[in-house]
Amino acid sequence: MYVLVINAGSSSLKYQLLDMSNEGVLSKGLCERIGIDGRLVHETEKGKYTFELAMPDHAAAMAIVLDTLLDSNHGVIKSKEEIKAVGHRVVHGGEAFAASVLITDEVEAAIEAVSELAPLHNPPNLTGIRACKQHMPGVPQVAVFDTAFHQTMPEKAFLYAIDYDLYKKHKIRRYGFHGTSHKYVSECAAELLKRPAKDLKLVTCHLGNGVSLCAVDGGVSVDTSMGMTPLEGLAMGTRCGDIDPAVVQFIMEKECISAQQAGDLLNKKSGVLGISGVSSDFRDLSAAANDGNSRAAAAMDVFAYRVAGYIGRYAACMNGLDAIVFTAGIGENDVGIREKVCTYLTWFGVEIDPELNGKRGQALDVSKPSAKVRVLVIPTNEELVIARDTKSILK
Ligand code: ADP
Repeated sequence: MYVLVINAGSSSLKYQLLDMSNEGVLSKGLCERIGIDGRLVHETEKGKYTFELAMPDHAAAMAIVLDTLLDSNHGVIKSKEEIKAVGHRVVHGGEAFAASVLITDEVEAAIEAVSELAPLHNPPNLTGIRACKQHMPGVPQVAVFDTAFHQTMPEKAFLYAIDYDLYKKHKIRRYGFHGTSHKYVSECAAELLKRPAKDLKLVTCHLGNGVSLCAVDGGVSVDTSMGMTPLEGLAMGTRCGDIDPAVVQFIMEKECISAQQAGDLLNKKSGVLGISGVSSDFRDLSAAANDGNSRAAAAMDVFAYRVAGYIGRYAACMNGLDAIVFTAGIGENDVGIREKVCTYLTWFGVEIDPELNGKRGQALDVSKPSAKVRVLVIPTNEELVIARDTKSILK
């Protein structure tokens, strides 16, 4: 059974075609600059291809993706009918969705209804769904939500300490994101540790452009660092994370900027980019820090300090900690950041083996044999979770 996974952003559309008989990836790619000009990067086991093609909208991009998958030279299927289902990443499911669902007209309307909680993400996700419906009528489509895994959070973790009526009236509460990634790596962690998920207390650290930590107790999310939006929590590439809310009003007054501009500042020009003034990319930051740039070094210090602090907090909230899991771009690749974070946690019984910590690209326990709390590095695979959920819903 072939499942197509779609992740539609405001000007991009990522795809992956999986053969679910062996969970192998037949092809993957990315349409970029949709609505501007258009560029497709398409990959199969035969090679990687780049095409400049006009993509006025997502429907046009979707048509190009299907043509490319069917192409006699660089395609991987002979007929559209080979694609039995499409799984879509949808960022915000609000309180309406605690699991993945088959997309019906009602589901589409419900996704639209929560769009006000994720105005940058849900509308493009919906555009992707509609483009697929247009080009693959009758093919079942499934929505997999970034927020769903965190719907198990108890009230004490998801309520903000503000007027309760605001929660009831406007659904202002903490939701959390990166749920597919936290779910996937927590399941892999249980396998790697050879222990049942129900007996484990884990902190999963998704450290990519967006950064979130999740406290996973007995296989379910009990707390996570992102909130109503992905702005809360850790210091990220360009997002500020936790901040005194009074700072927002203060910046608006001092800099004479609007609420919209303040939102942009905190989402796009803050985080490690804001502190360093160099880059949001950790490869650039470590290069700059090694060259003596003190702001780049400070940005990395703030980042690691906050990650370690959240791990300690979650160990307290769960009253225990069996393992810490690092994943995503920084978590999987940045040996130095992992080391920095773990150095704060020796009191908890974290001890990593520098040689093992230097390895990359595979799921690995990088702790010393004597460590009380294990440290695991597990490459995430959100597309696989989406494809698996899609397959299981069709069954
Ligand atoms: P996204 O959240 O966009 O999916 P990724 O999980 O791909 O992001 O993470 C992207 C980030 O990972 C980059 O901005 C960069 O900071 C970091 N990264 C990727 N590769 C490396 C590496 N080899 N060393 C250090 N950091 C890396």
